[in-house]
Amino acid sequence: MLRFFSILYIYCALIPPVSALASVELALGNHAPTAINEVYYRDGVSFLAIDDVMPVLGLKGRWDSVTHIYEITTPYGIASISPGSQYLRLGESFIPLKHMPRFIDGRLRIDEIFVREQIPDLLGFSVYYRNLNPPAPAPVPAEDDASLDRFFSFLLQKKEASNGPALGGVVLDPGHGGQEPGSLGIGGIKEKTVALDVAHSLEKQLKMQLGIPVYLTRDNDYALSPEQRVEPATRSDVDVLLQLHAQASPHAATSGISLFVRTREEFEGGSVPAEQGASMQLAICLEKALLKQGLPVQKIVPAPLLPLGRGNLPTVLVEMGYLTNADDVALLTQTEGRNRLVLALYDGLKTFADEQKENLQ
Ligand SMILES: [Zn+2]
Repeated sequence: MLRFFSILYIYCALIPPVSALASVELALGNHAPTAINEVYYRDGVSFLAIDDVMPVLGLKGRWDSVTHIYEITTPYGIASISPGSQYLRLGESFIPLKHMPRFIDGRLRIDEIFVREQIPDLLGFSVYYRNLNPPAPAPVPAEDDASLDRFFSFLLQKKEASNGPALGGVVLDPGHGGQEPGSLGIGGIKEKTVALDVAHSLEKQLKMQLGIPVYLTRDNDYALSPEQRVEPATRSDVDVLLQLHAQASPHAATSGISLFVRTREEFEGGSVPAEQGASMQLAICLEKALLKQGLPVQKIVPAPLLPLGRGNLPTVLVEMGYLTNADDVALLTQTEGRNRLVLALYDGLKTFADEQKENLQ
């Protein structure tokens, strides 16, 4: 019994006083530490709101609700991260993150390793960081360092035209999955679920109307590594890769569809700017089809978004709407709206295929 009490005493002595609300102390160099009270534990890792962290480190950050990207102004240029992405982009370089930034409780949050080690290493300054209530570490599967290299070794190739059907195979890539929900919206609606539902509907439409093979990067709710996501698009019969996502915005009024393509299209021995590539042609076909269905397309954006991969396989990332906007949610989840969206995507793909065919004749 005595032994029990002495253990209890030691245990109590180690627990920080309850009066300390702050969970994390953070300072730039020798500055006085700032207390950050909002700390969320996920999978044995502490996550902090990026907007709480940036001012303490003397950095300016800004969430762009259209591109889905958080931009940090650094002495070396703009660094950008996005929820669910495994990299930070700075200029032409991609820096792998230990843990993906994610939205928790309405704010974009980053893990403490990013704050404590990765930002200081990247920008060459030192920080003081102390977690007053560190979570018990959860067993984390070993990071596969080779995964990124393999991802970037994929060059998705546009296929040589043949006399076969106008469209060979199509890869549909519903974004996120598993532990990675993507954007969150009204009533807790999750991007990963919406994306998968649209992918299944579009798959059916393509199979019914054209009878062509359709490959889904995932057909259920699970996470994919970057290379698993890209791999189906390397099949020899695949002519198009369509990536399906949805966004979230702090402003409920923000709505509409955006289409993203690679900034450059790469092929064996060269590259051309987005404007000259087949992905842009596909994006234009999709835009026309969406507008024809009365669906608002905001713009086509050449952007260095990672899921787009490298190469010149016609690839478009469709941000199908905002889960934080009631009209967009209705479009994405109710039968009538969903059917219009799926029909428009189908029409866009079909028109693109027909145009490609015509160009050859
Ligand atoms: Zn997404």
